[in-house]
Amino acid sequence: IENNGSKNNITHVPKHAKKAFNVPVKRSQEIQLTRMELPVCEDEQAIMETINENSVVIICGETGSGKTTQLPQFLYEAGFGNPESDNPGIIGITQPRRVAAMSMSKRVAQELSLDDQRVSYQIRYDATVSSKTVIKFMTDGVLLRELSGDFLLSKYSAIIIDEAHERSLNTDILIGVISRVLRLRKELSEEDKSKIKPLKIIIMSATLRISDFTQNRRLFDILPPVINVNARQYPVSIHFNKRTPRIDYVTEAFRKVCKIHTRLPRGGILVFMTGQNEISTLCKKLRNKFPYISSDRTHRNRAAIKEETPIDELNEYIHGGHSDRNVDCEIEELVIGENDQDYLDHYDDFDTDSEDSITEFENDGLDNEYGLLSQLRLLFVEIEFDHPPPEGTRLCVVATNVAETSLTIPGVTYVVDCGKVKERCYNASTGVQSYVIDWISKASADQRAGRAGRTGPGHCYRLYSSAVFNDQFQQFTVPEIHRTPIEGVILQMKAMNIDTVSNFPFPTPPDRDQLKKAETLLRYIGALNENSQITSLGRAMATFPLTPRFSKMLIIGQQHECLPYVIAIVSALSVGDPFIKDYHIDGTDSDDESDKGELEDYVQTKELNEIQKEVIFKKERRKLMRKKFYDVQKRHSGLDPTSDILKFLNVVGAYEYSGGSEKFCEDNFVRIKAMQEIHKLRGQITNIVQTNCQGVDVYVDPKMKPPSAIQLEALRQIIAAGFIDQVAIRKDLVDGTTKAFSSTRGISYSTMWTDEDVFIHPSSVLYHGKPPDFVVFQELQRTNKVWMKGITIIKPEWLPKLGKSLCVFSKPKELPAPKLRRNDDEMTAYVTPCFGPKSWELPPIKV
Ligand code: ADP
Ligand code: MG
Repeated sequence: IENNGSKNNITHVPKHAKKAFNVPVKRSQEIQLTRMELPVCEDEQAIMETINENSVVIICGETGSGKTTQLPQFLYEAGFGNPESDNPGIIGITQPRRVAAMSMSKRVAQELSLDDQRVSYQIRYDATVSSKTVIKFMTDGVLLRELSGDFLLSKYSAIIIDEAHERSLNTDILIGVISRVLRLRKELSEEDKSKIKPLKIIIMSATLRISDFTQNRRLFDILPPVINVNARQYPVSIHFNKRTPRIDYVTEAFRKVCKIHTRLPRGGILVFMTGQNEISTLCKKLRNKFPYISSDRTHRNRAAIKEETPIDELNEYIHGGHSDRNVDCEIEELVIGENDQDYLDHYDDFDTDSEDSITEFENDGLDNEYGLLSQLRLLFVEIEFDHPPPEGTRLCVVATNVAETSLTIPGVTYVVDCGKVKERCYNASTGVQSYVIDWISKASADQRAGRAGRTGPGHCYRLYSSAVFNDQFQQFTVPEIHRTPIEGVILQMKAMNIDTVSNFPFPTPPDRDQLKKAETLLRYIGALNENSQITSLGRAMATFPLTPRFSKMLIIGQQHECLPYVIAIVSALSVGDPFIKDYHIDGTDSDDESDKGELEDYVQTKELNEIQKEVIFKKERRKLMRKKFYDVQKRHSGLDPTSDILKFLNVVGAYEYSGGSEKFCEDNFVRIKAMQEIHKLRGQITNIVQTNCQGVDVYVDPKMKPPSAIQLEALRQIIAAGFIDQVAIRKDLVDGTTKAFSSTRGISYSTMWTDEDVFIHPSSVLYHGKPPDFVVFQELQRTNKVWMKGITIIKPEWLPKLGKSLCVFSKPKELPAPKLRRNDDEMTAYVTPCFGPKSWELPPIKV
């Protein structure tokens, strides 16, 4: 390039080299040195050339190779985001997890010595973005939302879609939408083109199932080039178990950790478990085994433990030729991803600790994020990088697969992999959602093993046999879009004016039946009209970053001064069941019917140790305490318990009344973190309501008065409106064989979504009363039976008002033989043809 006197005073630069526009960067010496170690930095030139020549580029590289932290910097240095360059638009990077967006933006700001106004993040309720922002990290949900306001994404010159291998729902949709944006940006008129430049898309992935992107002609006109970053991965020896433990891989993991810790040279241990209970059980066992006293305040809260190494093992060790063994080795545990799977995988930030809790925002398909666990993980990031374990200790991290690709834990030499993952499964044909612990994929197993080989040769102990691995592990994990209810996504897409969702270029299109089901649901709850076009209610719902049901509840909750209660309810439902569950003696949780007998057997046949006795004692107490919360309702309203969801409201009220006290939570077996999160969410949702619903002046006083009887009934109607398609009718009423019942046990109900009988879950407040005629339920859960959870008693006369399109009205004479029709297109609720009392009439929906 000739020196033409412009400010790019460059004399000799190879073709396409990024130096064509070179933004100076001040990096500290230390950072400079660390960067040089990163594999992506070696490929910077090749990467930038490929980006210059192609509109879409795919970059694959091992976790920890520097993709997330370095790519934005390459672009920045090449002038992206610089108003004077050819690519003045800013650089956007999407992350499936909120915590990654926050921590990565901080790291990049630090590396570039820029402030957080320039390198910023934006997550659902929190942002550091400003007019000066050049590099913006955000969750993929945030970018999806921006698309509905600016379909051309005109303020960006480059979008990096990170962690694409996770195949989160949002990522898949983003890639689909962006393939259209790309085309539109190319097809702009000459005039517009001068303002909006072509967009660069960089898709980054860890493992290598990329053919869905690279070979997908629906997505991109020209198949994108793939750059493989060669990470220096040290060899990891894989050790399979000879036998696969039938159930108890927690104990197996415990043994393995003990062995590693007492026999093998120093090096961190990373254990993969599937969920909170397993993690706490394992940590408890480890703590008992290795009691530890630390004087270091920083580490006191880390459940750190210590053990004297038995001398014979030490000898064995020394004979093995290792000399750096520390006799007083201590083991540190840091429990991360305490609430596991939902976090990490997709619905990232929620405190959803098991199959029991609902997954907040599960359906919004947009920005599934929250603070609670993210704090934990932030804490984790902070501790890991800023406070390495003290000298002479060994770090043992027990995690769910949050540690699989998102975070690189330094210093891990040993990986213990249980081979399982907890996944939310959704049965599209029945609408039943359940959590299933299943084998991971081969790709995941390799990822996990790879975590041991970052800093040196490592070992991976797989707690399953090679035969199981070969025969039962799938090659790759099924993309989320094939596992989740997608109504929230469809609603968002409809709000973005993407009308025919069935033609949308999803990387792997969802099942047509599932799309149809989701559209049906949206019609039922009034978000779409009969022609599947978005209604004004639907548009209002789409402005809430919540699952459509919750949005609807908030929209219609603006009456009888119920809104603060509805906000509390939606917050609680979003966070999930705050009650600590009952535990089996073996540490697994259960509140199934079968549980009782088992417990009694245990008490009678086994000699119980102290711990087991304590478990039983606690369990009984928990039951009593839980009961208290529906008694509260009785005290305030004189009504028998009518709703599990209102029980949540009672807990929230009582907790706030206690001043958010820890003791309250302890005494009542309520998870304090869940309560704090609910508290926070109430504030956030209040803000959203204020922004979204003009003229609504909602003020949330954390200390609410208990709702009046009128309000309680209105709240039940609002809950019913949100779950109007999930009405269940006692079977005998449908059959016309009405009987008198004294117990709910074994009493079956009919619903619209499945032909199977459903039952009141033993954890429900309604379980111990008389079986109600009509209820709405929050979810169905399949174990040995299909259970309804989160149940609310409703009155049939509400149904014509709340779900007219779902009702078939029979003439009075034809009574009493109304039928529940289950024809897919004409699903109907079963109601008696009479209208509710005027005073309960819901006012027209405000938009
Ligand atoms: P990738 O995206 O390819 O997995 P990253 O860019 O996330 O890789 O990480 C590159 C390196 O930077 C890793 O070794 C990681 O441990 C390190 N790193 C990430 N965040 C921080 C931080 N806050 N402080 C120090 N090092 C960090
Ligand atoms: Mg990364």
